[in-house]
Amino acid sequence: MAAGKTAQHTINVHHVNTVIVGAGAAGMNSAAHLYEFMSQKGVPNPEEKIAVVTAGIGLGASRMSGSDKQTYYKIGTSPDVPDSAQEHAKTLTAAGCCHGDLALAEAIGSLREFYHLVRVGVPFPTDSMGTFIGYKTDNDPFERATSAGPKTSRFMSQCLQKQLERYGVPIYDNQEVVHLLTVGSGESKRIAGVVTIDRLVGWGLPHHQDRRAKSPPYRLKINVFLGSNIILAAGGPGELYRASVYPKGQVGIHGLAFKAGLVAENLTESQFGLASIKFRWNVSGTYMQAIPRVFSTDAHGGDQREFLADFFPSMSKMATSIFLKGYQWPFDPQRIENSQSSLIDILVFSETQKGRRVFMDFLHNPIGNPAFSRMKDFHLDDLEPEAYNYLKKAGALQSTPIERLFTMNPPAVEIYKGNGIDLYCEPLEIAVCAQHNNGGFAVDKWWQSNIPHTFVIGEMAGTHGVKRPGGSALNAGQVGGLRAAEYIVNVYGSDLPDYSKEQSEIDGQLTDLINKLAIYKSAAGLACEEVIEQIQSRMTESAGHIRELNDARKALREAVKLYKDIQQRGFNSQNAQGLVRAIQAEHLALSSVAYLKAIVELLEQGSGSRGSHLVLAEDGIQIHPDIIDKATGCALEFKPENKALRDSILQIEYDDSSPDLFRCRTVKPRSIPAARKAFEPAWQDYREGRIYS
Ligand SMILES: Cc1cc2nc3c(=O)[nH]c(=O)nc-3n(C[C@H](O)[C@H](O)[C@H](O)COP(=O)(O)OP(=O)(O)OC[C@H]3O[C@@H](n4cnc5c(N)ncnc54)[C@H](O)[C@@H]3O)c2cc1C
Repeated sequence: MAAGKTAQHTINVHHVNTVIVGAGAAGMNSAAHLYEFMSQKGVPNPEEKIAVVTAGIGLGASRMSGSDKQTYYKIGTSPDVPDSAQEHAKTLTAAGCCHGDLALAEAIGSLREFYHLVRVGVPFPTDSMGTFIGYKTDNDPFERATSAGPKTSRFMSQCLQKQLERYGVPIYDNQEVVHLLTVGSGESKRIAGVVTIDRLVGWGLPHHQDRRAKSPPYRLKINVFLGSNIILAAGGPGELYRASVYPKGQVGIHGLAFKAGLVAENLTESQFGLASIKFRWNVSGTYMQAIPRVFSTDAHGGDQREFLADFFPSMSKMATSIFLKGYQWPFDPQRIENSQSSLIDILVFSETQKGRRVFMDFLHNPIGNPAFSRMKDFHLDDLEPEAYNYLKKAGALQSTPIERLFTMNPPAVEIYKGNGIDLYCEPLEIAVCAQHNNGGFAVDKWWQSNIPHTFVIGEMAGTHGVKRPGGSALNAGQVGGLRAAEYIVNVYGSDLPDYSKEQSEIDGQLTDLINKLAIYKSAAGLACEEVIEQIQSRMTESAGHIRELNDARKALREAVKLYKDIQQRGFNSQNAQGLVRAIQAEHLALSSVAYLKAIVELLEQGSGSRGSHLVLAEDGIQIHPDIIDKATGCALEFKPENKALRDSILQIEYDDSSPDLFRCRTVKPRSIPAARKAFEPAWQDYREGRIYS
């Protein structure tokens, strides 16, 4: 199907060397490096060889998400604390299931990419000697973290966008990806291109006219971006969860990538943590270090309770645990026992499960439960030394949390103000939310997927293991984009694609897509908002931070059924916007099957609580006699980590002949490369391009 018009829709075909899906920090950085590598090779007009395609420049986690000081994790730049790439890689792989070659590449590439960001204008702070000042983040034994403030990733994407604009690289905005075109099969299978629907064109006639017409008169503008290489940088599948701090509209394209044949790894390792829900934002770092009061109310805001106080032995322990949640932000089942900081996530969740609402109150210090006289009043002097010394060093020993927060981090207060929440006047509603997936699509050390010429970078790539230091996601996204660009230009070259021999395969898929769109507006079809709501509820209930095998199995069965129902019944979309939403619902449904299948498989392997999720077991460790498992009515007990599984990465691949639509296998993590060559032979390898083999 060449460019032109079908009976209903317009189709435009673009040919470029590399199509990049996603305009977050990862995608735009990779596009900039592609341009630079092509220029260095003398390729004329490199900007014409690259297309960045996105559902929205203003969408995605990089643009819209952050925390008190959003973190970038790199090799330490302290003038007096030595660090090395090998040590850095060891930190990244420490909790298991992380490939050593990726960890080492991320470590080695971290400074190159960090300085690239500095060069394009991201305002990472220095002292008067030019030192980039570091601090400690979660799962980080050193002070490798740095930050440009609450909106680090937004600055990154804005600065990188300006760089692309200077280079003249086109960004195709408002393009919803609806299909990945594949050609060939087996080892010669390739992703030849990306099909999008323009989200601004064809939004149809008013509803009453639509209903009168036999065939609704909406026309779509369909774009086909054919590329010799494809870089997928569409971020995480944020819309999979109901309780989510991913920005609204961050759908991702996991389901489409599975359909195209990409293999994923470590999907089970999502991260969850406390976040504000009215305005979606992480309440990590100084929000917690300021030690606000945390209380709950009934659904209407009445019946305030100091619910944490019943579960901590003293005010000192409770207040210190609130403080530590700052840099122990993600929920961590290994930090529950003995009243550690992740007990707070469990208590917040248990409170919301009862239909109550939980708030952080920055105007008051934590309060003990008036029913228990054993808990003393809050005094800064009673904090455990780690918390007290930190606050003292930060000059934050003021008497109220809001003063301490403002002293440590004024932008953290301003970001809420800018989004309609004044922390000086109102408490902040929070919940335990899905925030990030450490897993994603499997890549080699050049971020190439199992399908040659297709690369996956940023959050869509599964480069992290069970745990990752805070800030390493942003670094991984930058390094992955650099590595993919370097490989593409040096190995695959800068030519435009020629898919003339595969034209019939491409036409067939486009025809199938257009036929599918036609059945997605049948009156007997499913309502896509209901479908999405069903997916999100199921994922939050059964694939969140608390998991149980029988429940996960049931959820998987329901998810498979929903996906099959969609195939049979289609959707009842009323207009072109509805069609886009229907496509999203379909691939989210497939993604949810993949995530649940991976969870069931891991639980069946005998996994325990690890990373950012807790596994329930009848003969496990009791958290507290009053923390009840809703399903059984008994005290909640969890199974400790099965450490043997640290050396086993769970892979998952779409297989429509399998009853659960996916098949799983395990692979061993690749080790951290230790071989080093002397300069001369290494130089020869480099000159002869053997570094890419
Ligand atoms: C609240 C919060 C706080 C965080 N804090 C940190 C932190 O401190 N440090 C850290 O390292 N990481 C942090 N992360 C994670 C980090 O922000 C993300 O992993 C990272 O920004 C992802 O970048 P990306 O470029 O891969 O994807 P994104 O920035 O999510 O970009 C995805 C792109 O793909 C496009 N897209 C998505 N779906 C489609 C579709 N269907 N069709 C077409 N285009 C599509 C989007 O429009 C967007 O352009 C945080 C995440 C959240 C949610």
